[in-house]
Amino acid sequence: MERAAVLGIGLIGGSLALGLKERAGVEVYGYDRSEKTLHLAESAGVIHRGFTRMEEAVTKADYIFLAVPVGTAPDLLEALAELDLKPDCLISDVGSTKGRIMEQAAVFPRLREAFIGGHPMAGSHQSGVKAARSLLFENAYYILTPFPETPLSKVQRLSRLLVTATRAQLVIMNPEHHDRIVGAISHLPHILAAGLVNQVDRYNESNEWFHRLAAGGFRDLTRIAASDPVMWRDILLSNRESILGLMQDWIREMERVKEALEAEDSFSIQTFFEQAKISREQLP
Ligand code: NAD
Repeated sequence: MERAAVLGIGLIGGSLALGLKERAGVEVYGYDRSEKTLHLAESAGVIHRGFTRMEEAVTKADYIFLAVPVGTAPDLLEALAELDLKPDCLISDVGSTKGRIMEQAAVFPRLREAFIGGHPMAGSHQSGVKAARSLLFENAYYILTPFPETPLSKVQRLSRLLVTATRAQLVIMNPEHHDRIVGAISHLPHILAAGLVNQVDRYNESNEWFHRLAAGGFRDLTRIAASDPVMWRDILLSNRESILGLMQDWIREMERVKEALEAEDSFSIQTFFEQAKISREQLP
């Protein structure tokens, strides 16, 4: 029986562990800094065995998945480089950004050979092992970001396991492309949502009708502003360059709308909304 070590048994690590155990028939060892989480995960049948020492979970593992917050994963990866791992062990992660973790893996030749970045593009605003579900990733895209020289056979081995465990749709992508795309469709929108909420909050201090009247559109647009602040701090810091470029583009876009409004240029204003309406209606 093959063995997988999942490092960090939260929402994503727990969901992956369940899929590996139930559908891929893999023995799953879990590592987490929280003993309580490990007990919960063991008693709920999410993992076979839990450890608070990483070395005990990863020795003899055929696969290692890092499922800790993105700010923590590079340190854990560095610690793995010091440990005695199985020679053909494959290492992957589930982090929402890929550049930083790939840079860290590239520092150590052993890790560079074994590491294939991963990002299952499904989740929830909930966190922790209690929210884990074995079919969380079903039909979602699951991005893999191998190094250019990683042999196809290794990518195929990991893909086969993940497709069986998660029933997700695997996509291979270069890490820079991944980070720019998720920056545009996820990270920048989180910044805008939080910025809008904070702006209205300031106005509300002198007139509470701002909050009272905030209904439909405002609530839809800002739902994601209620996400975990620590997770979003880490995501921004680990995708800094892509996000800075995207913010610059956004500022330019707002400048264009502002200039059109200052000039009472009704054609440009209408075109701005028309382009968005057509594109929004065509989203798959
Ligand atoms: P979570 O808070 O539910 O779980 C994180 C787990 O890691 C917790 O059990 C925590 O105890 C453990 N942990 C934290 N630091 C640790 C350390 N130093 N050593 C050992 N264990 C540690 O978080 P999550 O939502 O499962 O996110 C985990 C990863 O998945 C992140 O990298 C995130 O970017 C990625 N991700 C999240 C989502 C989402 O929607 N939440 C979606 C896709 C990918």
